[in-house]
Amino acid sequence: MAIVERIEAATPDARRRLRLRNPATLAPLGEVEVATPSDVRAAVERARKAQPGWAALSFAERGRYLERAARTLAARQNEFVTAIVAETGKPELEALTTEVLTACDALSFYAKRAGRILADQTVPVHLLKNKKLRISYKPLGVVGIITPWNFPFILALNPTIQALMAGNCVVLKPSEVTPKSGRLVEELLHAVGLPEGVFELVIGDGETGAALLDAGVDKISFTGSVETGRRVAEACGRNLIPCTLELGGKDPMIVCADADLERAARGAVYGAFTNSGQVCTSTERVYVVDEVADVFTRKVLEETGRLRQGASGEFDIGAIIDARQLDVIEEHVRDAVERGARVLAGGRRNPACEGLFFEPTVLVDVDHEMKIMRDETFGPVLPIMRVADEDEALRLANDSPYGLNANVWTRNKRRGAELAGRIESGCAVVNDCMLTYGVTESPFGGVKDSGIGRVNGELGLKGYCRVQSILIDRFGGKTEPLWYPYSARKLRLFRRALRMLWGTSLGRLLS
Ligand code: NAD
Repeated sequence: MAIVERIEAATPDARRRLRLRNPATLAPLGEVEVATPSDVRAAVERARKAQPGWAALSFAERGRYLERAARTLAARQNEFVTAIVAETGKPELEALTTEVLTACDALSFYAKRAGRILADQTVPVHLLKNKKLRISYKPLGVVGIITPWNFPFILALNPTIQALMAGNCVVLKPSEVTPKSGRLVEELLHAVGLPEGVFELVIGDGETGAALLDAGVDKISFTGSVETGRRVAEACGRNLIPCTLELGGKDPMIVCADADLERAARGAVYGAFTNSGQVCTSTERVYVVDEVADVFTRKVLEETGRLRQGASGEFDIGAIIDARQLDVIEEHVRDAVERGARVLAGGRRNPACEGLFFEPTVLVDVDHEMKIMRDETFGPVLPIMRVADEDEALRLANDSPYGLNANVWTRNKRRGAELAGRIESGCAVVNDCMLTYGVTESPFGGVKDSGIGRVNGELGLKGYCRVQSILIDRFGGKTEPLWYPYSARKLRLFRRALRMLWGTSLGRLLS
């Protein structure tokens, strides 16, 4: 059963539509119209028109809209949580904490700090003491934001508010699987009276996203799969505009012999199963050293056995949001079992649930020939691999095309951080998991196929800016040593200066 059904336009003038369903109950959620390429261009035009006025506001003025949005969201939290749950089938607690609470935090974080982070900087020049350098951070113009379905509200709101605080206007294209959560962003920003055109929403699928890439925006902030990310990068290359690509992951977990196994097992279960494993930083593979593997696996199974899956009342594990993802998860588990993996828990769609559910699954006897250890599963599956020691764990952790996040578990925090530092990933966590996206100060993003660029924090905010450096002469004078005329005497002087500056110890101090 498709969760989103595409309905072709009845007449040449009509728009295509998407028919939506709740993935947990399969109840119909109504239909939305798909924006045409000319709708997308018109949205970019409106944003372009509004941008100078928006950029002319002070950081404090822009921040006031965001602070109001945080207050509005706190007051209307139930309404937002209910809408997100209906579209994703995730537990209310997850919608509240990972979507709404994190949104309030991000809104007030950037509202309060963007002015300081993006203030003009005067930088002393180390060699040319007669010059002064000023670096300023200016808005890029109109930013196109394209987002996925797994955290449909926060992943749409967070880049939007960073781009807005930097003085840009935004055109957002949320996932076709969760367009209504994208509409919640629009509702929130309209509720706080954001000026017309500063934020534009275009609803649609891949075609709409592709239209946005070529609609004349100044940057694309993309979160989604590696495959689509490559297309986005190609278009941005063609149009010579920057992009940030937040792509997939296959996060490794390393359990050292001295780990607190109780905490590590609970962390593994949460890291693999929260949001039904549909997190770019889900724990997707575990490497546990041989001497503690049996105890760790037993504790993981005990913890997994306590989980409740469902669509109403109190439960821990929600639905798979997109029906296509359910096929991928099933195929990865099937492939693993065919190649010799053993299923210790779950391993199938949940027959007791009406909607799209996959049971929390624990696999052992897995290896790197299996899809479950190589490709992004994006589902509630925890494959555990026994390794001889930490070196083998590290080698296997790095044997992946992905490099988003990672987690390491040991009682020796210094060694944990050292081990984490040797993992090829954009982020890593010691004795906890995921979390880096939610820590607003932390630059978030991947290496290798997990993406390009960083979101969040100071680096993320600066990514929505055009950096301009202005060099100012301090003292004047009729000429400069480098200017004409060139002469043999000047050449000798520069030769002597070069020898003095980099050939003597006094010079090395000055240079
Ligand atoms: P997806 O790539 O299928 O779609 C993402 C968005 O791109 C959607 O809005 C879609 O409509 C749009 N799109 C599709 N084709 C396009 C095209 N040709 N041009 C422009 N836009 C196009 O990804 P998904 O299935 O929605 O999301 C799941 C993926 O997102 C997973 O791989 C997950 O790891 C990744 N993800 C990454 C992060 C991160 O921060 N690194 C966060 C969440 C999800």
